[in-house]
Amino acid sequence: MKVAIFGAGVAGLSAAIELVDRGYEVELYEKRKVLGGKVSVWKDQDGDSVESGLHIVFGGYEQLQAYLDRVGAGNNYLWKEHSLIYAEPEGKQSYFKKANLPSPWAEVVGGLQASFLSMWDKISLIKGLYPALAGNEEYFRSQDHMTYSEWHRLRGASENSLQKLWRAIALAMNFIEPNVISARPMITIFKYFGTDYEATKFAFFRENPGDSMIEPMRQYIQSKGGRIFIDARLSRFELKENGTIRKALLNDGHEVEADAFISALPVHNLKKVLPKEWLTHQYFTDLFQFQGSPVANCQLWFDRKITDTDNLMFSQGTIFATFADVSITCPGDFQKGQGTANGGSVMSLVLAPAHQLMDMPNDTIIKMVMKDIHERFPKSRQAKLLKSTIVKIPESVYKAVPDVDKYRPDQVTPVDNFYLAGDYTYQRYLASMEGAALSGKQVAEKLHARQH
Ligand SMILES: Cc1cc2nc3c(=O)[nH]c(=O)nc-3n(C[C@H](O)[C@H](O)[C@H](O)COP(=O)(O)OP(=O)(O)OC[C@H]3O[C@@H](n4cnc5c(N)ncnc54)[C@H](O)[C@@H]3O)c2cc1C
Repeated sequence: MKVAIFGAGVAGLSAAIELVDRGYEVELYEKRKVLGGKVSVWKDQDGDSVESGLHIVFGGYEQLQAYLDRVGAGNNYLWKEHSLIYAEPEGKQSYFKKANLPSPWAEVVGGLQASFLSMWDKISLIKGLYPALAGNEEYFRSQDHMTYSEWHRLRGASENSLQKLWRAIALAMNFIEPNVISARPMITIFKYFGTDYEATKFAFFRENPGDSMIEPMRQYIQSKGGRIFIDARLSRFELKENGTIRKALLNDGHEVEADAFISALPVHNLKKVLPKEWLTHQYFTDLFQFQGSPVANCQLWFDRKITDTDNLMFSQGTIFATFADVSITCPGDFQKGQGTANGGSVMSLVLAPAHQLMDMPNDTIIKMVMKDIHERFPKSRQAKLLKSTIVKIPESVYKAVPDVDKYRPDQVTPVDNFYLAGDYTYQRYLASMEGAALSGKQVAEKLHARQH
């Protein structure tokens, strides 16, 4: 049986891995020249790796880690010390370090030691966030009608902890502010954070997400007979009288015939190729409820080290929300002799919220980033900036705003030979690499079950 998959991000690649392993004939069509979607990395003219975004693997990403193992990339990521590190002005840092105890004591003791929270913040947090720690999926779903800020205040948790601790988490998770993001994903994270020590540890890819994950996935799929086409943009579907797909047409006129078709496109791209005949199904009109979150990733190459932190960092009051010196966290790339790197820091910074940056010239953005870098990393004031890059993504992951979760579609559509994968489709994670991997697994399992 032949399956055509459109979109080679983590979701499309995961679906392909799952299907080639079950003996399906798989063809994967990607509109860009590079695979990986929002995790893609490419080399520029200097030989430097340019990332679509700084990516972290969490301990709780069981499915993604299973795929990494399956494609022989199980050693391609490195665990870091289990702590949240906040970069403060003048090079100071504050920490939320988990104590080496079983959950929830790891978090309670760690929280009580956090230097940037007052005793009142700590008490209000333990008291206020308790329903999240004790809650189940049903409770989390019932809180989707309000923003996280509303939930936090309703619980009587302190304003300082909202601004200091949770704002950074909201920006890191979905690139939007706590007064915009739904309470649901945030309190789901608290549950993991507060009850499962392993789930919230971070790992970085040894090189970068492209070379350490996407490339091994590509090799695995092709080694099992899967065919991958780049520069191959899905343009539209041609339908049979009964509304199922006869064939797919690419931009260059190429026709794709298959027994089943999977869209692993981001939801905003999928909306553009939906046949109007399908819009009689609420399943498809519901997709118009999703909006993409704008985000940008900035990389800076310095002539010397401006930090020695081997971990993810957060900050607040800066143009960047989460960031790392990838010359330290990723020892297989960004090292002296690789492209522009000369042994100095290579900062990879996620800029969020980013709606105001989308139309701003890159030079202006770099000036703003550098101002904040100088403020947070005093050693950078003497350093020379060798090079900078910016990647803007106007519609990245869907905005997890209140009342949107219920529109996340199942992978099985009302059209018999058409399926959806993608981080926005229904699975237990928010839009993330794990969510995309889970959607790939689920779509393959459901397609297989429907055909047998
Ligand atoms: C800056 C940034 C940082 C992030 N950090 C993290 C992190 O630390 N941890 C984490 O877990 N997640 C992170 N994410 C989220 C994660 O990258 C995404 O949730 C995940 O990669 C989405 O995968 P996907 O396959 O669903 O979609 P995508 O990656 O968007 O893949 C969709 C693919 O479809 C292709 N396509 C689109 N239209 C067509 C068409 N017409 N024809 C053919 N192909 C088409 C696209 O080119 C793309 O390759 C981050 C995202 C960004 C932007």
